[in-house]
Amino acid sequence: MSKPMKYLVIHCTATPEGREVSSKEIRHWHTDPVSKGGRGWKQVGYTDLFHLNGSVERLVDNNEDAQVDPWEVTNGAAGYNSVSRHIVYVGGCDKDMKPKDTRTAVQKEALKRYVRDFHERFPQIRIVGHHDLNPGKACPSFDVKQWLREIGVHNS
Ligand SMILES: [Zn+2]
Repeated sequence: MSKPMKYLVIHCTATPEGREVSSKEIRHWHTDPVSKGGRGWKQVGYTDLFHLNGSVERLVDNNEDAQVDPWEVTNGAAGYNSVSRHIVYVGGCDKDMKPKDTRTAVQKEALKRYVRDFHERFPQIRIVGHHDLNPGKACPSFDVKQWLREIGVHNS
């Protein structure tokens, strides 16, 4: 059964600054069996992936409406997946794996375009960071509320 979408959730891959991550790699992390070092999930955790070069890769099919259909569900944040769309940028940690906003200029630009477009189409849907839903997580390593203000998206 599909449910009305309530959240667009921003994540980071929690990988060191400057290191690219492929969609194949993310699929392995999330969907490989636990015995093989994966999480054993049925579906990958995010709908769209923002690469270091600013390109956006779709990982899970989505029909771009305000409902979350069963086939659109991704596993980004425990307890919120049936009403969320999850997106992720590559990075989020410094070389010592401490949380850091490592977004490149072109990643920021791509995220901004995506979020503005999303907000225009679905002004009722809240745009949040992963840590806003699951406090205790550093993800996505920047303050989403403050960034939304900076880019002129008035939401929530
Ligand atoms: Zn996250």
